Amino acid sequence: MKIFTKVTDLNLELDLLRQQNKIIGFVPTMGALHDGHISLIKTCSEFNDITVVSIFVNPTQFNNANDLKNYPRNIDKDLSILKTTNTTILFFPENDEMYPEKDERVFKFDNLENILEGAFRPGHFNGVAQIVSKLFNIVKPNNAYFGQKDFQQLTIIKKLVTQLNLSINIVACETFRESDGLAMSSRNLLLSNEYRAVAPKIYKYLKDSALKIKNNSIEEIKKYVIENINSERLLKVEYFEIVNTETLNAVDNWDNNTPIIGCIAVFAGNIRLIDNIRYN
Ligand code: AMP
Repeated sequence: MKIFTKVTDLNLELDLLRQQNKIIGFVPTMGALHDGHISLIKTCSEFNDITVVSIFVNPTQFNNANDLKNYPRNIDKDLSILKTTNTTILFFPENDEMYPEKDERVFKFDNLENILEGAFRPGHFNGVAQIVSKLFNIVKPNNAYFGQKDFQQLTIIKKLVTQLNLSINIVACETFRESDGLAMSSRNLLLSNEYRAVAPKIYKYLKDSALKIKNNSIEEIKKYVIENINSERLLKVEYFEIVNTETLNAVDNWDNNTPIIGCIAVFAGNIRLIDNIRYN
């Protein structure tokens, strides 16, 4: 695995590989790598000659200074994990390298950026679009891999690629879970034992709710999930919405022709966890 911290050095290497007609796959991450990231890297290395992984905790997508400060960082551990994978190139830039000047760009995604996560994390998706567009511009991958755990992010990135006329194939990867069902997340490292013990209830109630859709309305399922999770002493639902997977607009019935997903954000103490479940 080669490690690059400078855009110019990475460009030279990638130009060389492109001249050799290598197919380049890309997995952008914020580090604190877990098996969810590893599953993306595995899929990437299966379908590409070159697997580029980036680790960069992007300040512009954090709407909360404490969240940015406390975000887990452990490059030594990440390096040892990456060495067990088929990663060809790690891009690990400093802030000044990614933002040589302030990024003033404002992205609009037909209101997708303002709902669900966007409603509670103002500016978050603008920061995501800023960094992902820069990374795409630098790496110019053939294929890029994103997790469905961040479902809204995935939807927005597909739109970003369309808006910017990029020839990048966006590949959606399944959510990887702990054995107790908790969606893997770098933020899980921040959970104390007490909160970690109760966090799997989020997915438990999502899964249970999927078994009930035949006999319950959308409103009843929403109530079921929100009330049950809130009845756990240490959990507090921030939002739970049942939406069309493409428009992310709320749906009001279980129309079989509409692909439907439930998206949730829950506070376990100060730690904010997100998850989702496909209903059809
Ligand atoms: P992050 O480091 O949290 O920004 O995530 C980097 C990439 O890994 C994003 O595309 C995430 O959606 C994806 N990812 C994070 N957690 C998981 C998971 N549990 N399963 C699959 N992909 C994930």
